[in-house]
Amino acid sequence: MKVLSVASEVFPLIKTGGLADVAGALPGALARKGIEVRSVVPGYPTVLGKLDRVQEAHVFPSLFGGPARLLAGTADALAIYAIDAPHLFTRPGNPYVDPQGRDWPDNAQRFAALGRVAAEIGRGLIAGFVPDVVHAHDWQAGLAPAYLRYSGGARPGTVMTVHNLAFQGRFPAELLAELALPPGAFAIDGVEYFGGIGFLKAGLQLADRITTVSPTYAAEICTPEAGMGLDGLLRARSAFLSGILNGIDEAVWDPDTDPHLAATFNARTAKRRRENKRLLQERLGLAPSAEVLLVGVISRLSWQKGLDILVDTLQALVGNGMQFALLGSGDAHLEQAFSRAAAARPGEIGVRLGYDEALAHLIQGGADALLVPSRFEPCGLTQLCALRYGALPIVARVGGLNDSVIDANEMALAAGVATGFQFAPVTAAELQRTVQRAAAAWARPAAWRKMQRNAMKCPVGWDSAADKYAELYREVASRR
Ligand code: ADP
Repeated sequence: MKVLSVASEVFPLIKTGGLADVAGALPGALARKGIEVRSVVPGYPTVLGKLDRVQEAHVFPSLFGGPARLLAGTADALAIYAIDAPHLFTRPGNPYVDPQGRDWPDNAQRFAALGRVAAEIGRGLIAGFVPDVVHAHDWQAGLAPAYLRYSGGARPGTVMTVHNLAFQGRFPAELLAELALPPGAFAIDGVEYFGGIGFLKAGLQLADRITTVSPTYAAEICTPEAGMGLDGLLRARSAFLSGILNGIDEAVWDPDTDPHLAATFNARTAKRRRENKRLLQERLGLAPSAEVLLVGVISRLSWQKGLDILVDTLQALVGNGMQFALLGSGDAHLEQAFSRAAAARPGEIGVRLGYDEALAHLIQGGADALLVPSRFEPCGLTQLCALRYGALPIVARVGGLNDSVIDANEMALAAGVATGFQFAPVTAAELQRTVQRAAAAWARPAAWRKMQRNAMKCPVGWDSAADKYAELYREVASRR
């Protein structure tokens, strides 16, 4: 079985979010199931700079406004096809926006090129790698299933995966011909979306199967509340929609070998977390204490993540033997609000603004609990890391957070299976109540230790997801 993965980000070549982690980890997990995956990505400067063993696989005399080449190469164990199209991808910084933070004006052409090249590889462009399945990730890859559909004849099976429905790729209808889509494609059962062209809509409409990154998010996006305009389509196609929970890279996130920790540990030696807690308190200017409940947060600071709700309750929470360690970056008003909170309660609230991989690991290995109060969360990765590191997750009961944390309710405690704390609805009052519930559990060390052991035993790697994707590929593969 051969699968072409189509994504705008693949770790370690290029990453702005969780999509890159998934696109980077899944090929390796699938290889262990006997499935050969190669990935096609835009040839951003950072991608081309990191590729090894590069060979020219194809030349396109013209690809949406300029000549382009398809380069085959490797990155670690990944097999990569990079689209070397300087007129589309040789730009500084972030893949989607200019240095002023505005979308590049030709994003439609840039990501149509990704879909187009993927479709051509799907049609057999590369003699040595004719995929049975083309797997498109997020809106940037959404036109791949469309180009495969509209070119007629035999084709590979197609899968469209949604990592975050909030990002949809909407463009003006006038671009239809320029994007080489047939006039008939501009229809409700085609690429048309609220009078324009929808890249994600096209993929969701025209792929053989749709997946998203957790079972609960798969159900949520079929409702008007969480469907972001696409719930009608998703309800109509719900027989072809499923949720597969993401994993984390267990080599990168391994408390037993983690180089960013003061003390490595495993489920048997979790007492050693104390040393990490001490270092974390020192780094963030928190009062040194083993007894306080230290709650960590690692997050983009955005409305989605619900951190404005935390700001509202922070002052009420600290002071009762509780500390907060927050690492994040994003919306300016949230950055300022957390900085003010830290200044008002030094020693109790520690804040570090910015992106800091090492500190993220130390928080996982040193905080007693990890708070994720998202309003919506397709999967979420930080709570999976927290489980593995024995920082008990306190999470909103939404999306993948619902699917990965077992709330410490009476039955779960009696059965000895609890791994964390959930709350709903996502309000300041519920958040406060649930953090206090965690504090009450913290005051009973034996019960806390039991939950911590449960958490650290949870399967959070890619094995189970890889089995599910493999099964899905087998179902759609035989289209030729
Ligand atoms: P999303 O993709 O919506 O941002 P996820 O939980 O799926 O959220 O993935 C976020 C990833 O980024 C996690 O691996 C998390 O550790 C990491 N991360 C988020 N913010 C920071 C930060 N400020 N510094 C370091 N790592 C961060």
